[in-house]
Amino acid sequence: MFKRMQSMQMQAVHCFQTMGPDQHEYRAIIAIHHTHLGPALGGCRCLHYAHEQLAFDDAMRLAQGMSYKAALANVQQGGGKAVILLPNNVDVDDVDRNFLFTWFGQCVEQLNGQYITAMDVGTQVGDMDVIASQTQHVASASNIGDPAQATANGVMVGIKAALKFHFNSSEVKGKSFAVQGLGHVGWRVAKQLLNLGGEVFVADPEEEKNWQAQALGMTVVAVDEILTQPCDVLVPCALGGVIHDDIVDQLQCKIIAGSANNQLANDGVALKLTQLNILYAPDYIINAGGLIFASVNYRNNNYESLNIDHQSAAEIDELIKQKIDSIYQTLIEIFQQARQNNQDVNYVANEVARTRLDENIEPSVQLKAQAKGDINYAA
Ligand code: NAD
Repeated sequence: MFKRMQSMQMQAVHCFQTMGPDQHEYRAIIAIHHTHLGPALGGCRCLHYAHEQLAFDDAMRLAQGMSYKAALANVQQGGGKAVILLPNNVDVDDVDRNFLFTWFGQCVEQLNGQYITAMDVGTQVGDMDVIASQTQHVASASNIGDPAQATANGVMVGIKAALKFHFNSSEVKGKSFAVQGLGHVGWRVAKQLLNLGGEVFVADPEEEKNWQAQALGMTVVAVDEILTQPCDVLVPCALGGVIHDDIVDQLQCKIIAGSANNQLANDGVALKLTQLNILYAPDYIINAGGLIFASVNYRNNNYESLNIDHQSAAEIDELIKQKIDSIYQTLIEIFQQARQNNQDVNYVANEVARTRLDENIEPSVQLKAQAKGDINYAA
């Protein structure tokens, strides 16, 4: 575990445990990868894990990913992630969520603002509101709102950057797009693409969403055909790991640019995409709109304790827009560097993120108390 922490350059991993009212033991892990750019921000997953080590690995891997994402999105946050391990013999529907998230809010509060939590797989806005009753360090309670529109706007900016790089024009009109998943983000992206004159193919297991898409003029294809649909841009907005070894040779797109987290099943797939001349917009850059939205709103809500000026709603909207628009230039620079050095885009993105983190190695004063490599156990 220490070796893994060291190899991933984790700053701290905090472990908490408590006894639930159902007499089962609940555990939480809060992994903090980096706080040199600001307090670590990242979602809280609440899941069953087959083994505790898998939960540690998940928390650390995702915290590292959040550091890279924040560094490339130019937000003043570090990377962190929390995992709540549900007892394996307790069904998720039987969990006393009020108890669980009150306790988890107290865990977050103990870290004095080094970690800011948010929604992730297995957590909902209602859970965040319970956490907010215990700590101010939460970035997706109902007072902040749904980040999906900001994420969708970022995906649109990223698609335009990829079109510009590949076709020398960012024009959506006349291009074709295959959108996998019509959820909070995918639906918004598909509609914007259609409104800008794109030809839009979509797929979602929920029939109602497909009907709505068809009514607007999108073409519905089968769920198991959307990834191999001939198109200019494949837009994965559903699940992780969808671009894997078995599908990569069957792809018929020129660009992959969508919101889904961890789209590539492994590093080999990134290399293969380069060989196939398919331009890949790294997911954690193109889907950073949600993080930007959460970070800017969190900082404004906590302006007094952060000792910064409070901004009006219009100023906040403008700041979010500016940061989302900067995804364009970040992607163009990474695409260029990858082409010049004949490297895959994902590799270059990770290198640029690591360089930005290393350039900001001096921890902020309020975070200096946290020694590198701490493991803190708290009851
Ligand atoms: P969502 O749950 O609202 O939507 C996912 C959609 O995908 C659903 O409509 C679901 O029916 C559909 N789907 C599931 N399996 C599918 C399949 N095999 N083929 C086609 N469609 C399928 O999620 P979301 O908030 O829209 O997020 C989409 C992706 O973007 C996720 O991977 C998420 O982690 C990532 N992401 C979201 C945000 C955000 O702000 N919501 C931010 C960053 C990253």
